[in-house]
Amino acid sequence: MAKQLLGKEVTAALNERMTAKVAELKTKGVEPTLCIIRLGERPDDLTYEKGATKRAEAVGVAVKKIVLSEDISKEELIATIEQVNADDSIHGVLMFRPLPVHLRDDEVEICNRLDPRKDVDGITDLSSAGMYMNKPLGFPPCTPSAVVEILDHYGIDVTGKDICIIGMSRVVGMPAAVLLMNRNATVNVCHILSHDVQEKAARAEIIVSAAGKLGLVGAGHVSPGQIVIDVGMNWDPAKNGMSGDVAYADVEPIVDMITPVPGGVGTVTSCILISHVVTAAERTLQ
Ligand code: NAD
Repeated sequence: MAKQLLGKEVTAALNERMTAKVAELKTKGVEPTLCIIRLGERPDDLTYEKGATKRAEAVGVAVKKIVLSEDISKEELIATIEQVNADDSIHGVLMFRPLPVHLRDDEVEICNRLDPRKDVDGITDLSSAGMYMNKPLGFPPCTPSAVVEILDHYGIDVTGKDICIIGMSRVVGMPAAVLLMNRNATVNVCHILSHDVQEKAARAEIIVSAAGKLGLVGAGHVSPGQIVIDVGMNWDPAKNGMSGDVAYADVEPIVDMITPVPGGVGTVTSCILISHVVTAAERTLQ
């Protein structure tokens, strides 16, 4: 039976560390603050905002909300971002995306107006550059950071390890590969056009699946001794809920360690955003 790598254990430890750091920052006159920029009232955004606010306040991080009209112009949105950039009391910014349809073509340009030092969600090109250069210019996206946080929490050293990542998106698979290579892992990134994904996965020591395909990783993809991190979040009609990319019942008896879905990567991802705000606040003192 595989050991379960549980998001709640990782977040408990992370929250404890953050609470201590926030208390320390407050003694130095810095109150770590997240600014949430929301355009309109999309239900998904409201749900995420509620969760992020709760998690921030639980560790002492303050939250400022800026709610803008859904039909705001590009110029007005950029002006808001510039105000936030100039506001020293704000350390991190979460701006919900995708932006409304009339701003979609300008989304990259608008995101890049955010000061990368406040880019706790990893949406600017300079955050990406910092990740590739392994320099603290901004922040990586939260989900790949959550993968690394889980491995760290359970003391899994990736140095020299063969890791197969299934999925090559710019928000999950690719940055996960960079973060793991920065730690000297040997990474094989597979995507929809890759050959022999099953064999490549079965040969790896760690599998990170981020394809977004329900049940993609089956018994044939895995071998004894492996660690499987399931990033996938897919609607599963059989259980009328969410499941990962990994066919859990088939894979769990074979491998050594595995993250469940739900209760694995997703649980950690939401706390990473808040930990990035704390780090951004710490960096202002350096
Ligand atoms: P995406 O659709 O942008 O990218 C999917 C990637 O997987 C692509 O590179 C594609 O080529 C590859 N792929 C698809 N089918 C494949 C196959 N059969 N074999 C090999 N590669 C294949 O998706 P995304 O935004 O990167 O998200 C991936 C999954 O992670 C989704 O299920 C998403 O819901 C989930 N997700 C979870 C969290 C979290 O916090 N747990 C956060 C973000 C995304």
